[in-house]
Amino acid sequence: MQEDPIASSNGIIVNAGSSRLLFDPTLGRRLGEDWNVFITHAHSDHTYGFATSARKHSTPETLHIYESLSQRKVKNDRTVRIGERIQFDDVEIRVLDAGHMLGSCQFQLITPEFTALYTGDINCVDTLTTKPAQPVSCDFLIIEATYGHPSYVFPPRDTIYADIIRWTMTEIGENRLPTFQVYSSGKPQDIVRLFNVYTKIPVVCSPGISRANRVHNENGFRLEYLDSSTPDGRHALKRRGCVYVTTSRRDHVPRNASRAVATGWALREAFRSFTAFPLSSHADYNQLLQFIAAAKPKAVYVFTGYIDVLSAQIERKLGIKAGPLPAHAQTKLLDFPKSAT
Ligand SMILES: [Zn+2]
Repeated sequence: MQEDPIASSNGIIVNAGSSRLLFDPTLGRRLGEDWNVFITHAHSDHTYGFATSARKHSTPETLHIYESLSQRKVKNDRTVRIGERIQFDDVEIRVLDAGHMLGSCQFQLITPEFTALYTGDINCVDTLTTKPAQPVSCDFLIIEATYGHPSYVFPPRDTIYADIIRWTMTEIGENRLPTFQVYSSGKPQDIVRLFNVYTKIPVVCSPGISRANRVHNENGFRLEYLDSSTPDGRHALKRRGCVYVTTSRRDHVPRNASRAVATGWALREAFRSFTAFPLSSHADYNQLLQFIAAAKPKAVYVFTGYIDVLSAQIERKLGIKAGPLPAHAQTKLLDFPKSAT
């Protein structure tokens, strides 16, 4: 049976020319040194590839955030900067900004048979720490659908920022400790920068977030914060009058904290005992459709989240064939173009 050019198996496999390339492996499966894996960004659901023996390709920022959070040194890594390209026999891979967090990238593939764009996680609006992802034209587009449902259209980011600041000032005014519970990297640095840029409110961060903050500062950001594990950080938390940004581990959250989350899911889900702000680092439904229309692909492979809903919308609204990735070595879902255009 002829192999699909693009398929799903422990990540996304692309068979092109004489190369077999694996993007964002999803399992800690053993991969030998002869494999080339590509890691789009440092969120933990995309970094399994760093724990394998394969040759690992990522941006230096992604590698450094991973090493800093895992406190492990990665071996057999090949860093490549956004805007650069790598050649594998007859396949050229270009590294493009994904706008999702520091160092996040998309991979564009130019092969003798077709062109493809694998987005990883993308965000298409400006944030305080990232620039928007830009689409490029391609035959095959492999795109995320985390918020690929018409009910997920985010308010303007400035409105959300203003709501966050207003809530934080109210909580401080009432002698409570406003506390954001978030992942270690990406969103928290946007929140730290929000308070740094628009307020004089001191920011305290838990140790994991502080480690990711340091990588940001090594890359030209000037995040001002106190690490909660230091005497100054502990003192600020005790005195109040500050905002606390921490991971979700319960032992990091002081008693009497006023807790908040910042996630796109806040648009439709209730978060009991949390104030929820729809601040996302992903594209919403409208951004996804605009991105796909601009890429003008012949076919779209959709992964993660609302795969079926977004695929149906792409076919109905854009007239482009769309569906989930075929499982590796199984029947083809999409026709393989005979030549690239
Ligand atoms: Zn992510």
